[in-house]
Amino acid sequence: MNEREIKSFFSGELLQWYKQAKRDLPWRRSRDPYHIWVSEIMLQQTRVDTVIPYFNRFMEKFPTIVALAGAPEEDVLKAWEGLGYYSRARNLQAAAREIADKHGGLLPDDKSVVAGLKGIGPYTSGAIMSIAFGRPEPAVDGNVMRVLSRYFCIDEDIARPAVRVGMEGLARELIPEGEASDFNQALMELGALVCTPKSPSCLLCPVMAHCQGRLAGRETELPVKSKAKPPRPEHRLAALIQDAQGRVLVRQRPESGLLARMWELPHVVAPERDAWDSPALGQALLSAALAAEGLAGIRAESLRHLGDAEHVFTHLHWHLRVHGGAAQAAAEAAEWTGAAEAAATEETAAAVEPVITAEKAVAVESAVKAETAIAMESAEVAEGQTAYLPEAAFAGEPRGLPAAQSSNEDQQPGAAPVSDAAPLSDAVLQPNAQLNASDSALPAGYRWIGPAEFERLAWPNVFSKLLGAHFAGKLGPLNAGSEH
Ligand code: SF4
Repeated sequence: MNEREIKSFFSGELLQWYKQAKRDLPWRRSRDPYHIWVSEIMLQQTRVDTVIPYFNRFMEKFPTIVALAGAPEEDVLKAWEGLGYYSRARNLQAAAREIADKHGGLLPDDKSVVAGLKGIGPYTSGAIMSIAFGRPEPAVDGNVMRVLSRYFCIDEDIARPAVRVGMEGLARELIPEGEASDFNQALMELGALVCTPKSPSCLLCPVMAHCQGRLAGRETELPVKSKAKPPRPEHRLAALIQDAQGRVLVRQRPESGLLARMWELPHVVAPERDAWDSPALGQALLSAALAAEGLAGIRAESLRHLGDAEHVFTHLHWHLRVHGGAAQAAAEAAEWTGAAEAAATEETAAAVEPVITAEKAVAVESAVKAETAIAMESAEVAEGQTAYLPEAAFAGEPRGLPAAQSSNEDQQPGAAPVSDAAPLSDAVLQPNAQLNASDSALPAGYRWIGPAEFERLAWPNVFSKLLGAHFAGKLGPLNAGSEH
């Protein structure tokens, strides 16, 4: 069989197989370009099984491009919560707004327009143009490159852009006339179901007879792909501070950069591993960082280690250690300036004295600033998936938006008061500060939230899970008097 016949065999057999074997997926029930577009964006870096319920909910909430364009961004991020890579959702909405403004709310059958939309690269553009409009455009992602590398026994590094371009040319040649939609989906389906990364099911494969990689016994060696650098580990300290109404202190991330405008627990990078490992050092560092953020007026009671959580981005791996405590209310604070405080201050000062120095305060401030710079540099590319370890604690970093209006709707009148709480280590940082846990006293971007507000705001996975566990009572009580 010559090369032309090998290619023709591949296209014909694959197409025939797909017509019988294709999965019934929600976005395959329609040729609506909007459906194809949303599904392709959701499927980037995310498994089909995970995407299905998100896709269905998203379409229910934003049934048209115009509906998506007109929705508050927070609603879109909320609908995306848990999928990770939130820049995908922001770009999707930005592109929807462009289509609503310039194309009457309908994705046009025009490759130059589709390819120019925010968040759409060569793969997604090819997928939309071929699947929705039947245009003979290749849609080459990692799965497709794996299949082609194996079938044609190509041992060039698929991480190289030039190799990807070559693969796109090859995939374009393989598209049978008038069959671009099914053929591209067939290639994707084969990569997902049969020619899988680790153990390809060659015996079930419709193109096995002429697969050059298999015939050479190299199917598990291919594709060749140079290894990406592992994500850089970063140890962070996070604070879970609760007020007398049971509300938790949170903040909104800056307008741009990593996880832009999402909500989180305040947290900082631990400048050294020791500060992360040691509860006393970590809590002191965290308190100093909160003070540097303009939160000196909030003193958390009896910070304690609640547990650890992880969040893995493309280039970063956050190890979050969460410390939690109850905030001292203003009136109670006034009563708290006496012998008891002096004694407690003396005691706790000794415990944290090695780190509570002017240099340390400067270091903390620098760490906060440096972290922001890193986040901005990493921009959207570093967003990723979360691995959650059920026990955790947290802390803070600078935000960008003004504080939202205070709301009482989430207050929990039954929450335990903290007036009889023992003073904590961070109290020594600001012994004369006015304590005030009201929203009006918070720096821009911070607010107190209860369970109802938690449900409405958009969170990165790691904070969604931590706060979900907290409001479900799974992290244990934070008010003073709880067992440590
Ligand atoms: S025969 Fe095996 S290696 Fe070749 S395309 Fe099929 S599953 Fe992949």
